[in-house]
Amino acid sequence: MTVAPVEVAPGVHFVEGPASNWTILSGDGTLTLVDAGYPADLELVEASLRSVAAGSGPELPRLTSVLVTHGHSDHIGTVTALRRRHEFDVLAAPAEVPNVTRDELHQVTVGDVLPHLYKPRFARWVLHAVRAGGLGDVGVADVVPLVPGTPRTFSGHRVVPTAAVGHTPGHTVFALPDDDVLITGDALVTGHPTSRLEGVQMLHPIFHDDLAEAGRTYGRLVEHRARVVLPGHGPALLR
Ligand SMILES: [Zn+2]
Repeated sequence: MTVAPVEVAPGVHFVEGPASNWTILSGDGTLTLVDAGYPADLELVEASLRSVAAGSGPELPRLTSVLVTHGHSDHIGTVTALRRRHEFDVLAAPAEVPNVTRDELHQVTVGDVLPHLYKPRFARWVLHAVRAGGLGDVGVADVVPLVPGTPRTFSGHRVVPTAAVGHTPGHTVFALPDDDVLITGDALVTGHPTSRLEGVQMLHPIFHDDLAEAGRTYGRLVEHRARVVLPGHGPALLR
């Protein structure tokens, strides 16, 4: 399978992966990856980085940063393997760092999923998640704290990390105000293998660490008027 990055704004490339999404920022001779798929997505992530790099001019840009919305295995799954090939910083909100390093685990468990396995969509999703390495140890060492509310520049793009907690204790969305883009991770999605719904929605309740908090966060994000919304699951929203 191949996945082609789609340039949704200048230097902002969205990849809709097999079961979760990632985004590549390009500019200033560097690349920044936002989220990184399941462990099994390694070659797809690499191919998408090469594709964006090849379109960036004669001087191939270097991957310098990986920004993490949250520490679930379908969002950080390739990071450790990518580090064997590239040298980059991994950045996450301080409240999310323990979930990324796996000093703590805030993720759906087999016990949460069991009561739903009679539903074909859940059964198919579990099979995919297991095959894609979702149960493996994906903990990432040496994570640099990224302070919510403090704008930083990555690959020439102004990025404002913004706390959007509930799905996990430190879940973070990334606003790119100059590009009119909002990267929402799993705080707001537009689809999921377990969902029959299309369009803007919350993930199924079992996936959230704190459902009430996740609901409040979702309510805020729905009001956000970015022209481009890039969710962790489902297609990009362009308006
Ligand atoms: Zn998640």
